[in-house]
Amino acid sequence: MLSERIKKVGMSPTLKISAKATSMAADGIDVINLSVGEPDFPTPENIGAAAKRAIDSNFTKYTHNDGILPLRQAIAKKLLEDNGLKYEPDEIIVSTGAKNSIFNLCMTILDEGDEVIIPAPYWVSYPEMVNLAGGTPVIVQTKEENGFRLTPEELSAAISPSTKALVLNNPSNPTGTAYSKDELLKIAEIVAEEGIIVISDEIYEKLVFDGFEFVSFASLGAKIKEQTIIINGVSKTYSMTGWRLGYAAGPKEYIMAMSIVQSHNTSNATSISQYAALEALTGPQHEIVRMRSEFQIRRNYMLDRLRGLPGVSCYEPRGAFYLFPNISSYFNKEYEGMQIRNSYGMAYYLLKHAKVAVVPGEAFGKDGYIRLSYSTSMKNIEKAMDRISAALARLQPTRKEKAISLNNTVTLRKGFVETETYIGPELRDALVAEAEAHLTHQEYYEWNANIQGVVIQLRTNLPHLHDFWIENWYPAQLETDLEPHGVIYAVGFVPGREPRAYYSSESRTAIFFKSGYYGQLRSLALGMADDITSRMSDSYSVRGLALDFGGDGLIMIAPKGVGKTTFFANLLRHPKSKIVADDIVFVRFAGDTIADSVERKLYMRTDFVEKFPDLAVLFDKSKCENVITSRNECANGPCQRLDNCRLDKGSPFCYEASPVSRAMLDPYWIAGPTKHIKRTSLKWILLFKNDPVSPAVSSPSTEEAVRFCEEGLSQSGAMKSEPFFNQHILVKGSERIDSRRLFYKRLFEKVKPFFINVGVGSKDEIQGRINRIIGI
Ligand code: PMP
Repeated sequence: MLSERIKKVGMSPTLKISAKATSMAADGIDVINLSVGEPDFPTPENIGAAAKRAIDSNFTKYTHNDGILPLRQAIAKKLLEDNGLKYEPDEIIVSTGAKNSIFNLCMTILDEGDEVIIPAPYWVSYPEMVNLAGGTPVIVQTKEENGFRLTPEELSAAISPSTKALVLNNPSNPTGTAYSKDELLKIAEIVAEEGIIVISDEIYEKLVFDGFEFVSFASLGAKIKEQTIIINGVSKTYSMTGWRLGYAAGPKEYIMAMSIVQSHNTSNATSISQYAALEALTGPQHEIVRMRSEFQIRRNYMLDRLRGLPGVSCYEPRGAFYLFPNISSYFNKEYEGMQIRNSYGMAYYLLKHAKVAVVPGEAFGKDGYIRLSYSTSMKNIEKAMDRISAALARLQPTRKEKAISLNNTVTLRKGFVETETYIGPELRDALVAEAEAHLTHQEYYEWNANIQGVVIQLRTNLPHLHDFWIENWYPAQLETDLEPHGVIYAVGFVPGREPRAYYSSESRTAIFFKSGYYGQLRSLALGMADDITSRMSDSYSVRGLALDFGGDGLIMIAPKGVGKTTFFANLLRHPKSKIVADDIVFVRFAGDTIADSVERKLYMRTDFVEKFPDLAVLFDKSKCENVITSRNECANGPCQRLDNCRLDKGSPFCYEASPVSRAMLDPYWIAGPTKHIKRTSLKWILLFKNDPVSPAVSSPSTEEAVRFCEEGLSQSGAMKSEPFFNQHILVKGSERIDSRRLFYKRLFEKVKPFFINVGVGSKDEIQGRINRIIGI
């Protein structure tokens, strides 16, 4: 079971594309790889010889955690001579690549929620490293016309009280932009004033063109030096990427903390690589000059060719070995029915039809561009440019624009925010007053929902919530003078406020700030309706999947993760079955045990298409929420690691990319008007559990069944246990739980429950047992 954190992280797109190009080449396809992030020059011989000497001398053991002293001294000397910076060896740490240094630094400085400003286009790993360390990346878009450099104004606008650090990649991957001393000074002024840490990634320092003078950020003054951690290494400068050797230099406090982190993961960088790096830094440097002038020749050629392509503009880089042309004028053009909608689509098209591997700009946080590396022979570059030029020329204006019918809203929050349920009358009045102050007449939506006879009024300034609300519920006929039973205020952005929900049971009012996530609004409405019906009309909400078989009702109650949706879907395929509800019913006793569906539409996870591909066409027609429309926002790490990601191929959206994307689905669309029914009389209750000891099917005593539901034990450590498996219940005081317990007791006395143990047998066998109980 993967952690929630890693689930959101995909494989580095650059590595993925390079791997794809390599495997195509291995299959005999003549592909030119312009996606590589390393110099194509051999590592200079003297460096290899030093490594050999290290092996011969048995320098093959653990070294000092932070790197051998002579290497740290050599780095100190380099920083002094090249950058005018004085560092002691204990202000330097050597690690397994610059990447490893940055990661250790993130682990060292970031607390949960700390913001790190990252100018886009950015090197693909920065945001993910910040995410993995629990921080929050704040992406700032730079502009092509500013040479993709972060302007002081852009920086100032991005700073918040939570800003902890700024990543400055100078020269930059992927644009090749670099900052002059004057440009850096302007940024330094703001950084000094705000006390922000600067992660200055200077790995491309030596690869600068046209006599550009590189200035290290830390050299801008004593105060700045105290706030800066320099990241550098030998990977690019000495063509030593595979040796995995980088370093960080900065104030002792940070370096010592990084040393602690490093001591618990990699320990020292490879001993042999350290001796090789020592030779790289202290030996002859002429290979760098040769490599730089070769890169400059290639840059000039490739830049000329790109600028010669119709509709393409390209910034002239000051350094590194990449070009970042703007290809957005080709969007919406097509070839053989394949329409290009984004940079992923363009990269996929070029790989397929030009046999050239490039990296989509979106991977670097900037759609509309692609990254081309000129770290390959001139011959390859010429051939690749010919192919790209021909492939782009083949793209034709789209004759008939293919409609993307997706009707999608992205919400401020994409999950539940904290709900406070015990608020007194004063706080309630203050919150209502605050909410009402934001509901101006220009932007005010109101609608009465009828949830099991309870009238709940939504008052909001968010049209999306209003839309979903109207679709979700049956309408309540209320004349203006009558009061609803309950009111929910849902207010969008409120400056200075934490996203939060509040519920006052006494006055039946909920106030919901700064989210816009319909899932929580719906949950508040269900919880509120339950709070009211359970006290006033002896009807309780029961969370489960409900079906009807010719007037006889079935409800399946289960914790998350036991596969109940699959059983539900299989039962739904039976000709006699009708869908009642996919999440919740309200149950009451009226002679029979009646289960009512209260929702007009099903608020459904769109990633169900993974199991039920047929749903996709229905979602296409539905109102959606938080469907992923950009590759960078994909939160499905395991899927991204596969080779058939549709976003990789330029699809404009993906239903599977996020566990929180939803569609408001009309149940009649699933299988027509005869397949849905609003009410059933309960005959079967199945309680799902998963344990290795109990029998496959058993009939628990009433007390046992009640206890099972009340405990609501989660099947996975990641999920909270929920009383009665019902996350919508708002008021959980002992008195209310007592009355719910009594209700379940009555329920199980009227309708005898079964335990279904999914821990015994295959899915088919379990399905067979369920079918036998129902008699189908
Ligand atoms: N920073 C940037 C901007 C890079 O482009 C790269 C390599 N692609 C690195 C750091 C990582 O360098 P290393 O090989 O030393 O880990």
